[in-house]
Amino acid sequence: MSYTPSCRLTGSPLDLVLDLGRQPLGNGFLTPAQFNEEYFFSLQCGFSEDSKLFQLIEQPAPEMMFHQDYAFFSGTSQHMKHHFADFATDIITKGFVKDESSFIVELGSNDGIFLTHFAQRGISHLGVEPSGVVADVAESQGITVTREFFDSSLAQAIVAQYGQADVVSAANVMCHIPDIMELARGIESLLKDDGVLIFEDPYLGEIVRLTSYDQIYDEHVFLFSALAVQSIFETVGMQLIDLEPQSTHGGSMRYTLAKFGRRAVAPAVQEILNQEVAQGLDKTETFAKFSRRVKESGSALRNMIQDLKGQGHTVAAFGATSKSTTVYNYAGIGSDLLDYICDNTPFKQGKFSPGAHIPIFPENHFREATPDYAFLAAWNHEKEVRDNNKAFEELGGRWITHVPKVHFLN
Ligand code: SAH
Repeated sequence: MSYTPSCRLTGSPLDLVLDLGRQPLGNGFLTPAQFNEEYFFSLQCGFSEDSKLFQLIEQPAPEMMFHQDYAFFSGTSQHMKHHFADFATDIITKGFVKDESSFIVELGSNDGIFLTHFAQRGISHLGVEPSGVVADVAESQGITVTREFFDSSLAQAIVAQYGQADVVSAANVMCHIPDIMELARGIESLLKDDGVLIFEDPYLGEIVRLTSYDQIYDEHVFLFSALAVQSIFETVGMQLIDLEPQSTHGGSMRYTLAKFGRRAVAPAVQEILNQEVAQGLDKTETFAKFSRRVKESGSALRNMIQDLKGQGHTVAAFGATSKSTTVYNYAGIGSDLLDYICDNTPFKQGKFSPGAHIPIFPENHFREATPDYAFLAAWNHEKEVRDNNKAFEELGGRWITHVPKVHFLN
């Protein structure tokens, strides 16, 4: 009998809509001594017209991805620092957090980039963060952190120790958590009756529109739409009360939810749900078309870089991002095609990219060696990267991107 994958929310059969092949851990930067023992899995995506959830069929165990040496530090981007400052102000302005006695819990608090704005104002807060090195940074800045994976038993423990929360917030983490029902139940029990859940994640509508298939990697077990978020949370008696598109991570959505009937619903909710139906985010067929565009994008990028190398040019990449792991391993771009990757995270420097094994150098190497061409792996930080590397363009260097299709940026 053949195996039929099932939806992580409803258990209904999934349609296999995209196959990105054999892939390593997106953030699994490694040393040559580790090449032989590298872990790979099959990166395939399924969709359910029933739950509207776009999801990975197989995902590595969370402990393999989030651990003591987890290499993603939110605070490495100035743009994200500003974003989280604005996000915190927005929560306070809307009155979701009223005064010092209000209690906010953040899931995936990482290095404290967001909670620091509450800690500085003396507001009760708690970060939930299982990855050791990033939690250390948050604690060193006076942020209270519990180093665990969030689930409904942790929610119970938090309520017992601190009481229920006015706000549960999360950024770029809800889409990481495979047991979505357990997560929803935990959040519902953690919130006060008039509490709100506010979270943001890369937005499926933008991924489909931009063919930004690099948002799909091991950590992102789900890529959410508002339709999907609605079907998840209605099972625990919660509803969407606001939707706000964000420019971060190449196009994200901020979802605000409350317990049914507790708060007014903003007009944006119905507007965006309607747009999603118009875009076909409720139909398997849309993702079959997306999959064909992904295939074209992968071959176009490989061909372009291969041609440039054939002409004797140097081609580097900017940003050792987890997103680009998907691109290199799907498109078959290895150290034969990319000379090196540069990145400002010390932890990644001197290591090699997952699967493709391209060497990673500090950013000053990029400025000193000045390649002829550079693939903008951190395409979602285009402005920040280009502003910081004007000399590259002035010396005739050209940026390559694959979003929304493969082309030169300058
Ligand atoms: N919120 C930050 C970090 C996003 S990276 C930002 O937007 O920049 C995702 C973070 O979530 C990682 O630090 C990871 O360790 C953490 N995480 C993963 N699974 C989690 C879980 N089940 N509960 C809480 N945090 C989790």
